Amino acid sequence: MKREIVSILKQYASDRTRLIDMLWQVQRRHGYIPDKAVTELARGLNMSRGDIRETSSFYHFFHDQPCGKYRIYLSDTVISRINGYQQVREALEQAAGTRMGTVDSSQTFGLFDTACIGLSDQGPAMLVDDVVFTRLTPEKVSKIIRRLKQGETPQQIVNPKQLPRGDISYVDNMVASNIRQSGPVFFQNNIDLEALLRRCLSSDPEEVIAAVTASKLRGRGGAGFSTGLKWRLCREAAGDTKYVICNADEGEPGTFKDRVLLTRSPKEVVAGMIIAARAIGARQGIIYLRCEYSYLKAYLEAQLQQLRDQGLLGQAIAGRRGFDFDIRIQMGAGAYICGDESALIESCEGKRGTPRLKPPFPVQQGYLGMPTVVNNVETFASVTRLLDMGADWYAALGTEDSSGTRLLSVSGDCKRPGIYEIEWGVSLGKVLALVGAVNPWAVQVSGPSGECVNAEHERERVFAYSDLSCNGSLMLFNRKRDLLRIVRHFMQFFVDESCGICTPCRAGNIELQHKIERLIDGRACQQDLDEVVSWGKLISNTSRCGLGATSPNPILSTLAKFPEVYRDKLMEQKGSLLPSFDLDAALSGYGKARIELIGEKAK
Ligand code: SF4
Repeated sequence: MKREIVSILKQYASDRTRLIDMLWQVQRRHGYIPDKAVTELARGLNMSRGDIRETSSFYHFFHDQPCGKYRIYLSDTVISRINGYQQVREALEQAAGTRMGTVDSSQTFGLFDTACIGLSDQGPAMLVDDVVFTRLTPEKVSKIIRRLKQGETPQQIVNPKQLPRGDISYVDNMVASNIRQSGPVFFQNNIDLEALLRRCLSSDPEEVIAAVTASKLRGRGGAGFSTGLKWRLCREAAGDTKYVICNADEGEPGTFKDRVLLTRSPKEVVAGMIIAARAIGARQGIIYLRCEYSYLKAYLEAQLQQLRDQGLLGQAIAGRRGFDFDIRIQMGAGAYICGDESALIESCEGKRGTPRLKPPFPVQQGYLGMPTVVNNVETFASVTRLLDMGADWYAALGTEDSSGTRLLSVSGDCKRPGIYEIEWGVSLGKVLALVGAVNPWAVQVSGPSGECVNAEHERERVFAYSDLSCNGSLMLFNRKRDLLRIVRHFMQFFVDESCGICTPCRAGNIELQHKIERLIDGRACQQDLDEVVSWGKLISNTSRCGLGATSPNPILSTLAKFPEVYRDKLMEQKGSLLPSFDLDAALSGYGKARIELIGEKAK
């Protein structure tokens, strides 16, 4: 073990900011992170064992105990639940001979539930470490387990032709892109990236920032902050060393558009990063890739190398002496909160993904304390296209406050799930018709952190920052779906993903979860709903980051739009809605809820 860790330390020059990469190497080799490895890492990095475990214990995909030769992560989402998740789970447990959250007696299969892995258009889906299996059925998972038992590897099963991992054919063979509608901005294959980069790099950085500002592009990560202004603030921030980070950690349940952009247009995304680097004066960049997309890593590395070979990345980019910029890929390890830019930066530094207090903002003090621009995949791809076509062209698309187009990841009760590029300003009704929505009733816009819209009454609403500022996730549900169970699932997601540093978010969401349990069990009264509303507002107003601020939304949003669903479940006494006085029943119910929840989640 000592020799192995010394070799890993050497590979990363004993740089403690690369701790997550080192932990990945250990986990890949052993299937978990043994105590001895922690001891050796701590010694080599001059840290305590507690420091190492502090980081490793934060991430869902790191294990501190042996968990099987094959670690199987079945994606548990509300969409997969309407597409046969339960039957697949049962078949998987039966075939592997163990329950979810446990390892079989032969130490071959460890089964784990995991949150959305970015495949809602082709679920149920699962990961066997970094190998993806989609469109699962009970028969399919049974067959996969049988073949693994017979000695085949996951790679051999999914890639019988032994396609090279760095090739698009390998990626396409494993996961479908499902682009249903492309528009004027994304998935263009006619951009001359070399010519564009030569032009942008020979321009004054101020001109580039002015063009991005004039395009009115707003960050596609959710907050909608002006991209041009963010770049200007970073350029003007004090500091000789600056960084560009691409947030490829799309973890919002129901979102998978960045997966498809990274598959179909990786060089457009990288070109946007190069242009940002020139604009702010950065020499280093990072793509923070969620570990659920590990299957894309070799492909993305190959794309970066191709750009280096073309002289478009690395030293003297596009022949411009003095402009050096290169990019490394930082793998995440399973933490939704790392979608928050400051948490992502902490993670890039090898730490827990705990959001920072702001100010200072990342553009002032970001990665390693230096000014940093963090934009997401879609934003960088938009930059490339808008500078190719011109800021005016881009600004003319969409609406006054929402320029350009938006990618939607559509899933749920519709005939054509997949990726749609829409111009901002399109109505919900038009999108529902476009995707072949089947009797749409509730539409979850922007994932659990967003808004639930009543499709029967709000079809005129439009996709725009002033109305439905969709972050890319659109999940459709018809009246056959149990809305309260969907809400419970969303709340469980936030309970699992809270980083835990703020009490309102850490404890408050569990209490909200209990309230939903009471409601589903028919034990809630009006007072419970009143408390849900007041606690929800409190959590929202007192939490440090966006996760806490939006975590009550699944309840508050559905309560506002579908009050009848809640009213129908309230306990009635003597014809009126009264509080329950059955304390014992209430307490035993709380215990039951906890046991069920623990049973459902591996970690
Ligand atoms: Fe962590 Fe929640 Fe606080 Fe955000 S709001 S910092 S996720 S505890």
